[in-house]
Amino acid sequence: MSFTLAIVGRPNVGKSTLFNRLVGRRLALVDDQPGVTRDLREGEAKIADLRFTVIDTAGLEDATDDSLQGRMRRLTERAVEMADACLFVIDARVGVTAVDEIFAEILRRKSATVILAANKCEGRAAEAGLLEAYALGLGEPVRLSAEHGEGMMDLYTLLKPMV
Ligand code: GDP
Ligand code: MG
Repeated sequence: MSFTLAIVGRPNVGKSTLFNRLVGRRLALVDDQPGVTRDLREGEAKIADLRFTVIDTAGLEDATDDSLQGRMRRLTERAVEMADACLFVIDARVGVTAVDEIFAEILRRKSATVILAANKCEGRAAEAGLLEAYALGLGEPVRLSAEHGEGMMDLYTLLKPMV
């Protein structure tokens, strides 16, 4: 069975942009099962010679504020259960938010194997957020710019021993 990486984190940090970059055209399937499963997109990821399955926790964008927190939690828990490791993405331009802390808590409680990623790291606007990311206690964040394709080799180095 193939190694599965779940991309988790609050809306708007760049999860789907990263998913699309990793998957390219190799979007394997969109699950049509009922419930939260339909909000998990699965694809075949490729970085250099690495191949693995990647899951995007989509379907949060259209939730109302009221339903968002419970939905994020259920969806994230489901993704964590399906995955061998989680890529927990924060927005380095915004820094660590209260909602990011909720995700960190879910991952800790689930004893997930976590790779912390600070996205939107292109340019200098990311430096303060990057420092905050260390305070999450999830180790050194890998610096990514999903939009510009930066940090993919660092992600490769982290994933290579796991895949
Ligand atoms: P998701 O809600 O976590 O799936 O986030 P999306 O992938 O939909 O991205 C949210 C917004 O962030 C979009 O406007 C993206 O274009 C933007 N974005 C994603 N990655 C980057 C990045 O590396 N740098 C910058 N500056 N913006 C990004
Ligand atoms: Mg998305």
